[in-house]
Amino acid sequence: MDCLFCQIADHKIPANVRFEDDDFIAFDDIKPQAKTHILIIPKKHLHSVAALSDNDGDLVGKVILLARDLAKNLGLDQGGYRLVFNSGTDAGQEVDHIHLHLLGGNKLGHIA
Ligand code: AMP
Ligand code: ZN
Repeated sequence: MDCLFCQIADHKIPANVRFEDDDFIAFDDIKPQAKTHILIIPKKHLHSVAALSDNDGDLVGKVILLARDLAKNLGLDQGGYRLVFNSGTDAGQEVDHIHLHLLGGNKLGHIA
């Protein structure tokens, strides 16, 4: 499949991997918007939050728990952090493979 994040998940495109198991991979964003900026994805190709079906809840829930664990392991939970799913063009979603942004390590601007 011609999907950037599927290719990262398959190790066909390099990334700085922070976590990986059979179903998920987390890697550094190439254009970080914070001191720490990690993308967490399921290896299964799902387009976006908008495209989720009701039975994807467990998979996406695990993405959030992975973000929690990464944040704790990196000490981001001390100062706090932000989790973002962009869904669709108005939100600026550029890569059509669902991904959770984990941002932290410095004070973040108010967006919501
Ligand atoms: P979004 O705008 O929510 O779709 O986020 C896509 C993110 O993917 C952006 O923050 C990009 O900087 C990031 N990105 C694009 N290409 C790569 C890449 N090859 N490796 C890591 N992150 C990437
Ligand atoms: Zn994909």
